[in-house]
Amino acid sequence: MTVHSFRDSCLIHGGPIHTMADDRSQAEAVLIKDGVIDYVGSLREARRRAPKDTASVNLKGRTALPGFIESHTHPFAFGKALEQVDCRHCRSIDDIVAALRERAEATPEGEWVLGCTYDDMLLAERRHPTRQDLDRVSERHPILLMHISVHAAAVNTQALRIAGVTADTPDPGDGRLEREADGTPNGVLWEWAQKLFTRHLPAPTADDMRRQLRNASNQYIAAGVTSAVEAALGLAGGGTLEADAAALAAQEPWLPLRLGVAITHPLWQELKAGSGPGLEWGGDPQRSRPLAVKLFQDGSIQLGTAALREPYYRQSEDARHHLIWAQTELMSFVQEAHTAGWQVWTHANGDYAIDSVINAYATVGGNGTARRLRHRIEHCQLANDEQLDRIAQLGLGVSFFAAHVWQWGDRHRDVFIGPERASRMDPLRSAQRRGIRFGLHNDTPVTPIDPLLSISTAATRLTSSGEQLGEDETVSVRHALRAMTLDSAWLAHEENEKGSLEVGKLGDVVILGADPLEVSPDEIRRIPVEATLVGGTPVYLRQNGGGIYD
Ligand SMILES: [Zn+2]
Repeated sequence: MTVHSFRDSCLIHGGPIHTMADDRSQAEAVLIKDGVIDYVGSLREARRRAPKDTASVNLKGRTALPGFIESHTHPFAFGKALEQVDCRHCRSIDDIVAALRERAEATPEGEWVLGCTYDDMLLAERRHPTRQDLDRVSERHPILLMHISVHAAAVNTQALRIAGVTADTPDPGDGRLEREADGTPNGVLWEWAQKLFTRHLPAPTADDMRRQLRNASNQYIAAGVTSAVEAALGLAGGGTLEADAAALAAQEPWLPLRLGVAITHPLWQELKAGSGPGLEWGGDPQRSRPLAVKLFQDGSIQLGTAALREPYYRQSEDARHHLIWAQTELMSFVQEAHTAGWQVWTHANGDYAIDSVINAYATVGGNGTARRLRHRIEHCQLANDEQLDRIAQLGLGVSFFAAHVWQWGDRHRDVFIGPERASRMDPLRSAQRRGIRFGLHNDTPVTPIDPLLSISTAATRLTSSGEQLGEDETVSVRHALRAMTLDSAWLAHEENEKGSLEVGKLGDVVILGADPLEVSPDEIRRIPVEATLVGGTPVYLRQNGGGIYD
């Protein structure tokens, strides 16, 4: 199944169909014609309207929902990571060395060995690997190992040599080189200091981009995702080639899912000036389209690079200096994109960074224009009540990393921000109470694509150790489902096209092995995805494709 026509007609029936159109609506049948929902209602009427050759999708008791929309994810970086050494499961620096060595032994001398997704907090040593650690892998291969957050990385001595980075190299404006006593970089890189090295990697080709994007897409559809929004086009090192691949997905049907992209600010400027495919992609915008300009205003809490109003829990260092841009700079970027009529997304985890972003949006957002463009705050992890009030007032959108509670909740509570702030991280219910529309995301490859874990965690606030963290911020399963579908569509100005099963919308559907509204919220994360339909066409079928057609 390499060409996806999105043009078949099919009739879905035989189990609960939650349309997400409003609070309670359920339908007996959904008819999709030419990729678009033609009818929602009774099975009898759907059958009457169906063309003769309509495929009959029989749920046999399974549950259908609008396809999941990952409102903030990184298919380009993920596709690339799939080809690197995955260090997610390493529990010591020795584990990392062993994993990378296996790859180095199979790699010609002098070529780069690339690894990803190590987590310093899960290593016995509780630190980042240094160049000396990575020199144990190989001194003949340059090595670049990305942290799970992508906001830090580690390199070996050979990589420093190739990049010409020495004790005399100053820190770049948007990053930092960790150093030994005499000033020699120790191999640990913070924020975008990694660019000093990524620019020496072999230039990716257009074929690489397409292959990686397609490989990533296959994983999204297997998780029930029908639309993935790339939250930082240009960050995976492909530059305008990333834009070319995304634009090509609008022109030709080679991707099995729908793509939207937020373009990192420097790449957006390049495209605006006419590089690559520019900013007008034509083709079929429902397959792939540019959506927004992406900015970053801090890093991540688990790396200690988020900008907080109060110090981190286990250290007294003033964390406010972690803002990436001075306020005037951030404002000028926001103003530039806003004036050009573009939606702006800004990454902000800490409350100090969130203040900065709200202030920037408030400045440009006179006369309700911020509301009209739906400027967004990405992650918005430590937003407090007063900030949520302002977000609601300005009509901003938020994409929350709800499964963060599961992935990092225990460590946030015990190490990084303490029990009080951790119980309020990702404040979904406080946002819902104020009428803020939000989506949920896994930020893949930071964590695996798992919308059902996001929904589960939003409803339970359980951490991976099984403890509940901040019951007051749970939302109902129904609201979590809405965040994963209709409200994620809203965040991309696409709520009239997708996000619910209603006449005239795209026939994007996920079929689940159990009904998330019937099982206990903690069980939701274990529900299997049985099938994924994009425009009525099955793009993913579990277990070799059996079982959904009559
Ligand atoms: Zn991200």
